[in-house]
Amino acid sequence: MHLLIALLPMFVSSATPRYAIIDVHLHAEPIDSYGPPPVTVCAPYDEFPARDPSKPIADYVDRMFGHPDCAHKVLSSATQDALLTETVAQLEKHNMLAVVSGEEERVTTWVGAAKGRMLPAIGNMDTLPSIDALRAAHKAGHLKVLGEITAQYSGFAPNDPSLEPYFALAEELDVPVAIHVGPAPPGAAYFAAPKYRMAHSHAMLLEEVLLRHPKLRLYVMHAGWPFADDMIALLYAHPQVYVDTGIIDFAYPRAHFHAYLKRLVEAGFGKRIMYGSDQMIWPASIDTSISSIRSAPFLSEAQKRGILHDNAARFLRIDG
Ligand SMILES: [Zn+2]
Repeated sequence: MHLLIALLPMFVSSATPRYAIIDVHLHAEPIDSYGPPPVTVCAPYDEFPARDPSKPIADYVDRMFGHPDCAHKVLSSATQDALLTETVAQLEKHNMLAVVSGEEERVTTWVGAAKGRMLPAIGNMDTLPSIDALRAAHKAGHLKVLGEITAQYSGFAPNDPSLEPYFALAEELDVPVAIHVGPAPPGAAYFAAPKYRMAHSHAMLLEEVLLRHPKLRLYVMHAGWPFADDMIALLYAHPQVYVDTGIIDFAYPRAHFHAYLKRLVEAGFGKRIMYGSDQMIWPASIDTSISSIRSAPFLSEAQKRGILHDNAARFLRIDG
């Protein structure tokens, strides 16, 4: 009897995943990344505002992030400490594991505070750390995923030669790469990232990278939105590639996100789509992005479990 009781939890834990949800796209950001907090966003935006070019850009930015007009608004955390506390609370509430990306020092702090609910990823909005720094981070256990590679914000296409040493390093270390392919905030080139180009959002730009690095484990963040044809082509021709649903599942009009997701699933790639929140400074947005997967009427329960957990567990080689 005692033996049975002692063994029972072992059987339960081997049959039931440790986490209900795996988020492969969580950020550890400075709280003032989008201006003085708190900052409002829509989750989702039902429509995107038009910009009047005769008015200062601040007028447009205020209608996107300051005082947006939408039914479902989400307020950011108020302080840096609150951002961490509220993010961890969300991970606990949903029984989640999250790949958290940012600068090494902040990510390391967050991983420690999250007590087994975060995996460290190193990436940056502007420049990546040096190869030597990444090797040292890997040795220290601080580099489980290389990303988010946000070179697109700095004007680089995903196949830019300057990224080549990073792809080679990730392949050598067998560390997954997470690369931003797709959207910045609408109009970002006018107010936040002057070198960002939407034209670099074609996932097929990664084809030669993948062929040069056949052992690379890479996922395309934001599922290469909005170029579904490119994304489907890349998934089809390169069966090791996965995607995540970051930002499109929380900020974009719900019917449109569902249509985009449905296209990828109907094309036969439901087992290579991973849930990503792209949570930045709005921890409550995690509720929105999870519900946008759970409410998709065209997904079976098994497909929802796959997107929310199983596909990421397989890709990341996580037992849990
Ligand atoms: Zn991104």
